[in-house]
This record gives sequence, structure tokens and C-alpha cells, in this order.
Amino acid sequence: MPVAQVLTPLARARAQVLAASRPLAAEAIALQDALGRVLAEPVHAAADVPGFDNSAMDGFALRAGTAGRRLVLAGEARAGAPAVGPLGAEEAMAISTGAALPQGADAVLELERAEVREGAVIPRLEVAPGRNVRRAGEDVRAGSRVLAGGRRLGPVELGLAAGAGAARVHCARRPRLALVATGDELVAPGQVLGPGQIYDSNRIALAGLAARGGAEVVLTRHVGDSPAATVAALDDALGAADVVLASGGVSVGAHDHVRPALERIGVSEIFWGIALRPGKPTWFGTRGRQLCFGLPGNPVSALVTFLLLVRPALARLQGAWPLYRTVPARLGTAVPRRRARDEAIRVRLVHERSGPRAVPTGAQGSHILSSMLDADGLALIPAGEGELPAGEPVTIELI
Ligand code: AMP
Ligand code: MG
Repeated sequence: MPVAQVLTPLARARAQVLAASRPLAAEAIALQDALGRVLAEPVHAAADVPGFDNSAMDGFALRAGTAGRRLVLAGEARAGAPAVGPLGAEEAMAISTGAALPQGADAVLELERAEVREGAVIPRLEVAPGRNVRRAGEDVRAGSRVLAGGRRLGPVELGLAAGAGAARVHCARRPRLALVATGDELVAPGQVLGPGQIYDSNRIALAGLAARGGAEVVLTRHVGDSPAATVAALDDALGAADVVLASGGVSVGAHDHVRPALERIGVSEIFWGIALRPGKPTWFGTRGRQLCFGLPGNPVSALVTFLLLVRPALARLQGAWPLYRTVPARLGTAVPRRRARDEAIRVRLVHERSGPRAVPTGAQGSHILSSMLDADGLALIPAGEGELPAGEPVTIELI
């Protein structure tokens, strides 16, 4: 008989995983390769953005207070081609959106509000100083911090960095992740199932989550329930990766070989078994700076434990902050509590006038992968007696 497991509370398990996850070395990368990467250093603006006072409209640059006067049309300022000389007091200049405001002008009159006659412009209304003028530095000041370190670079971040003149950014290297799916019953999708066989769904789903989490998936493999094959596959995985995930084979059954295999190749156990449903058999250990997770084979358990433990670890390896996002909500339906384990329930968030309501996605069995479909987050239900009534405040960890 296996020894009784001491279950580690989720918060503690997470703290232990994060304590073992240290940011990887940073590298300089070109902005066009940086989508999804995490800044290791802040980005500062090399210059003001906009870099000069410019026009917000196509129209005429002029001086305020010239309504009704006949202003001589003196040349043109275009985007990328500023006017050569200053503007005289009784002059107006054609100007396009984004063109530098000529010296001497302090406003822009929209094209449709000007009367243009015989080489002259007559403003049809009083124009206040600053009208349609975008000021230098209005968006970003020279030298100011445009983006903080730890921020993941999305399209908007990349646009801001480019606008501020950055061509390269410093980001932590992407964590290399290797994935080993264990189980004699597993067959790759596309092949014919024999008796008792099932399709391997964890490998593709976990690889997808890992990629979304910023990892570079360098190896994925299937291995049967043999001790020697498990050792060999995990050894290869550790040879290639910063983070190794095994799926299945981590529980107490006669055919579960992941734990002894990992210990055999020098991975030290940090915890085995967490007080969480789904995800109880989860194992975690380290070899130097390498992280090894033995995730349960049940598809929901594998994905939930990935989200709660592996994803924040990947975030920390990349130096990302925050490590995960939570929102407060109220339970949409009553939920029974487990006496000894917290429960991560898959929920959709329904936005109501009183705030977000967390509605369970349906049957919550750890083999019911469809319960993850359309889930916005995980409601973390603390262990306890009885049920948590509808309307109770809960924390939702967004997926
Ligand atoms: P295990 O953790 O190996 O005891 O597996 C628990 C359950 O998850 C069993 O029903 C397995 O058949 C199933 N399972 C294990 N690995 C996978 C996988 N890669 N894809 C889908 N189901 C799996
Ligand atoms: Mg198995």
C-alpha cells in the first residue's frame, strides 16, 4: 500500500513553485519579433511624442483672432514636409493632418470652415489659439517611461514602443518547455482506436496552453507505462527544457511511473499531492533551476493544474507581472463544498447590473473536458462544510 499523501494547500504549492521559478536571462530582440514577449527592462521615450506641434486636421494654419480677415495663402505644410519659413500675421498656410505647425501660426481652421477666394483664405468663424493643434509631448514626454518592465508586449505596447523610437527591446528568453504524455491507452488523433484506447488530448491542449503562456515547446512525446521508457523520455525532456511537464502516471497506481522516474534522473520532489479538486495527484520538483511538473492525466485536472501552477511559473520565468489575474464575482448558483480540498470550478462570467456572476459551465467531473469550453475563469471554492450559496462572493482567476 502506498503511504498516505499529505496534501499541500494550493496557496502553499503555488508559493513553492514560484519560489523555484527565477526569471531567465534577458536578450535584446527586434520589435517585430517581440509580440507576446515580456519586457525585462522598461522602455523610455527617446523624444517627445508627438515630436512637434502639429495639425489635427486638414485645413489652414493661421493666427487666432483673424475671423473675417483676408489672409494671403502662403504655401503649404504637409506631413513629412514642414513649411520652409514662418507665417506672416496676415497669412494662412494650407496644412495637412500631422504636418508641423508653421512658426507664427497658433491654430488650424478646418478646410470646410474657410472661404478660399483668389489666393486668399477668409476664416468664417473666430478661431481660438490652439484649435486643432496637437502639442509636442502630449502623448509621451521625452525621457518618460512608456512601458514598465514585466509588461507583456501586445500590439498596443509594440505600437507605443515603436512610436517612442524603440527598435529593440530587452526581454527574458522564452522558457523552453518539454511535454511527455504517459499512458498505454493513448493513441494519437487520426489513428484507429483499439479496445480500451483513447485519444491523447492532453499533449495538444497542454502544448497550446504552454505556447499561450509564452513558452517555446521544444519537445512533445508519448510514452507507454513502462518504467524504463518513462525514465528515457523524461531524461530527454530535461536535456532540452527549462520546464518539463509529464501528464498522467503520477498517482499511486501500479502503472504510474513518473515520480520514481523523475527522482531517478535527479529531480528533487518539492510536493506531491495538492488539496485541490481537480488536481490532487499533482507532483512538483526541481533539478537546479529546472522545473518539473507531474500533472494528473485526467484532461480537466491537467489543464486546471497547468493554469494554477504552470502558467504563473512560466510568467515568472519571463519576469512577467502580474502572474495571474483575478476578478471578484458572485456565485450564480449554489456550490457544494469539499471538506478537505479547495475546488476550482470552471465558470462563465455573466455581467449583470449588480456585477459579474460566476455560472458553472456544467458537470465538473475531471474527465469532462467540455466543462472547460467557454469557461472565462476558475472559481476557487475554499474547502468547508455544506454548500456555498448563490450570491456568495468568490474570486475568479481568469483563464
Ligand atoms: P492517470 O493520471 O495516468 O492515472 O490518468 C488518469 C485518467 O486520465 C485516465 O482515465 C487516463 O486514461 C486519462 N488520460 C491520461 N493521459 C491522458 C491524455 N494524454 N489525454 C487524455 N486522457 C488522458
Ligand atoms: Mg496513466
